[in-house]
Amino acid sequence: MSHDALVGQLDFDPDALKRRYDAERDKRIRPEGQGQYVGTGGKFAAYGRDPWADPDFRREPIRDHTTVIVAGGGFGGLLMGARLRDAGVTDVRIIEIGGDFGGTWYWNRYPGAMCDLEAHIYLPLLEELDYAPRHRYSYAPEILEHSQRIGKAYGLYDKALFQTTITGADRREDRWLLTTDRGDELTADHLVLACGRQSLPKLPNLPGIDRFAPHTFHSSRWDYAYTGGDAAQPDLTKLRDKRVGIIGTGATAIQIVPEVAKWAKELVVFQRTPSTVGVRGQCETPADWADTSRPGWQKARRENFQSYLHGLRPEDDPVGDGWTATLDVLIPETADDLARRLGRTPTAAELQRFAEINDYRVMNGFRDRIHELVTDPATADALTPWYRWWCKRPCFHDDYLPAFNRDNVRLVDTAGQGVSGFTETAVRVGTDEYEVDCLIFATGFEAAIPYTRLAGFDITARGVALSEHWRDQVRTLHGVATDGFPNLFFVGGNVQTAMAVNAVHLLDELAEHVAYVIARSREQGLVSVEPEPSAVDDYVAEIVGSARNEATYAFLAECTPGYYNGEGNARSGEDLFSGARYGDGALAYYDLLARWRAEGSMPGMTGTPR
Ligand code: NDP
Repeated sequence: MSHDALVGQLDFDPDALKRRYDAERDKRIRPEGQGQYVGTGGKFAAYGRDPWADPDFRREPIRDHTTVIVAGGGFGGLLMGARLRDAGVTDVRIIEIGGDFGGTWYWNRYPGAMCDLEAHIYLPLLEELDYAPRHRYSYAPEILEHSQRIGKAYGLYDKALFQTTITGADRREDRWLLTTDRGDELTADHLVLACGRQSLPKLPNLPGIDRFAPHTFHSSRWDYAYTGGDAAQPDLTKLRDKRVGIIGTGATAIQIVPEVAKWAKELVVFQRTPSTVGVRGQCETPADWADTSRPGWQKARRENFQSYLHGLRPEDDPVGDGWTATLDVLIPETADDLARRLGRTPTAAELQRFAEINDYRVMNGFRDRIHELVTDPATADALTPWYRWWCKRPCFHDDYLPAFNRDNVRLVDTAGQGVSGFTETAVRVGTDEYEVDCLIFATGFEAAIPYTRLAGFDITARGVALSEHWRDQVRTLHGVATDGFPNLFFVGGNVQTAMAVNAVHLLDELAEHVAYVIARSREQGLVSVEPEPSAVDDYVAEIVGSARNEATYAFLAECTPGYYNGEGNARSGEDLFSGARYGDGALAYYDLLARWRAEGSMPGMTGTPR
């Protein structure tokens, strides 16, 4: 036990923990980095196929003009459509690969799927649509239903094209020309890309994966025909006589495991790195859960939550869940509070130590919880994470850890090495083989990939492709538009916006901003608007030169590998999932956008009059 003025009483050895973290990280680093994964194209196309859409859907090609085309019908696209309508622009066509709106909630219908952020801050447009979420953490069917509610309320179904993939976008004179896989030739004054940020499933590219005979699917394309049940009632009755394997223990698997455990004859969980799993506290929401009487309540609640992530201490904590409770321990004092307590300004090294010690405290709490909930000590040890809290997506769940107390659930801990390959009938871990009837890949999604790859098509203007324009460096003004590409906007997905746990909050701010630019330029009679190169240069310089970004990169470089840190091999901010963001954080970024709009003259943008 030791005590010092900076960090207080310690009942653990921080140096020993640091050594353990480093050792656990080192054994997981793989030279192939992101190359250990493969996407769902080519010979793996079956893993990406849409299980929810009508495979026989046909329609005639369309040739017409729309004021705004939005690529992507997830929350980014829906919010874009809604905010455009609010701004008076109603002629909007959303083009979506899936068979309906919903984006990630269209695809992810696995049993147990729920949003791990409080529904009242996550679900968009609650105030506008006067909708009260049924649960504190909404289940996927309710979120999909809410997406449809938005589509209907804002008239976005009228011109939407589903099951349609954009194949290219070219700026021709004063309009965008889009081609699609259904032979459409669609023109638009404005093009908005709202293609998500983790929409492409990935698989581990392991020896034998293409000759593995048992039934397999990716978590985002759940096969209810095989398992029984459906998304609304996931009674997986057909698994009663099945040995089911699942690869992955991230945010998705955490939710799947307790559900499959209820039904499968046997469930084998193949783990490479355990997640941190805090208290969830799911419940039905009473009507008075949130004070919805004040206009702007949802924005205020979101900002309150976001302020916790900045280490600020608002007077109240309406969300009051595992996120804010953890942040309370992680950032118990601001640098100013600390200075007051110490009677002097802390040094950079002291601030770093303060953060590290609090992180150990947080993680010790999560580690203790495992031993409280998991009865077998060896299994509890294996489920214990050894890294800093932000190294991987924090998880919260009440049923995941207890699932390992069931007789039919077995954890195969791979000691950081992961599944190593497949025989025709078995999953291999080193020299051990595990026979299964069905294998679920909960192995995540491609992350930190170039934007045109995420979108699935390139965009050209004045003979230059966006992929070329951004070859050496992503260039944007505020993350929403780029020089040389008139009337092209980005809503989410790309870098240079803000880092936000509540992605929908970010999407809403972006949608409002882009809707303003489009509506304002139309009011001003501009045929096109685009950022000035010098304004882009200045903004990019601010991002690249941000000391806080540098600190984030340094933090992530020490982390156990994962998609947050380019599997431990990131070479620049853009290789990081949350890299190259506005350094001062999301609230400052939202404020930057709001002040820019309030200024009224769209500084840094140039327009071409009609
Ligand atoms: P992740 O990328 O987070 O997890 C993939 C998992 O697969 C990891 O546990 C990884 O291990 C494991 N894995 C990969 N290769 C192997 C291998 N060879 N052997 C064993 N294990 C392997 O994907 P998820 O789908 O879980 O989550 C993706 C993101 O989706 C989340 O981070 C979150 O942002 C979002 N999400 C959000 C939810 C919400 O409620 N808002 C719910 C679910 C997901 P390792 O850690 O060692 O790399």
